[in-house]
Amino acid sequence: MSQRLIEQKVVILLGPPGGGKGTQAEKIARQYGLLHIDTGRALRAEQASGSELGLKVQSYMEKGVLAPFELVMDVIKAALLKETSNGNGFLFDGFPRNLTQAAGLERILQELSLTLDAALYLKMPHDILLDRLGFRLTCKQCDTKFNLKLKPPQNPSVCDLCSGELFQRSDDKPEVIENRLKAYTEETSPLIEHYTTLGVLQTLDANQPIEVVFELAQTILNPLFSQLPVTTQKD
Ligand code: AMP
Repeated sequence: MSQRLIEQKVVILLGPPGGGKGTQAEKIARQYGLLHIDTGRALRAEQASGSELGLKVQSYMEKGVLAPFELVMDVIKAALLKETSNGNGFLFDGFPRNLTQAAGLERILQELSLTLDAALYLKMPHDILLDRLGFRLTCKQCDTKFNLKLKPPQNPSVCDLCSGELFQRSDDKPEVIENRLKAYTEETSPLIEHYTTLGVLQTLDANQPIEVVFELAQTILNPLFSQLPVTTQKD
């Protein structure tokens, strides 16, 4: 059994598909010792396992539309149950994706006696997203992203990092990309105003090299984490 030794922080990453949320999330979670909760990845893992939840979400993901609220909340709760009291807090990546989910997150945080500390909005021009998603390859094993045009792997079917197999996600095909961008514009982008009103939104120009965006993120997050130890102990 472990107990909470510090005041945990909660950060969310907002932005369009293909805007670099996953890449930045990995780096931020590692840097600050946060539990990284990536709903897209968790839903793909459910699908791959053939679970009941995976079968239920499959049709939504294939079309590039948002999965139903209750199913997404189940994924979030399962991730939190695994590890609520360890580490410096939580990084939500790809959640919330609409105002209903934002209210769901607020309820969960209340139950855990936590508050949202920062919403980082990775801003990226629309035309660049098309190239980033359309030429994207994903590693089946470690989920690292490559891009045949912008960041090619040494071998187009093998991950440079872990030698896992690279594939094109079925929702990275042109007709599905359109739906995903539409879902973002119509459902997710209102969150920018929501979190601005709450006073936690921080906008980053994400159309820059990965390390530059990460530095911007650190400039915002360092003050938040300056009081925290780098690691926490377990009982
Ligand atoms: P992503 O990997 O974040 O691009 O998500 C891939 C797909 O998973 C999306 O197009 C949705 O179908 C589904 N998905 C991921 N996160 C959510 C969420 N918070 N709410 C609803 N659907 C989601």
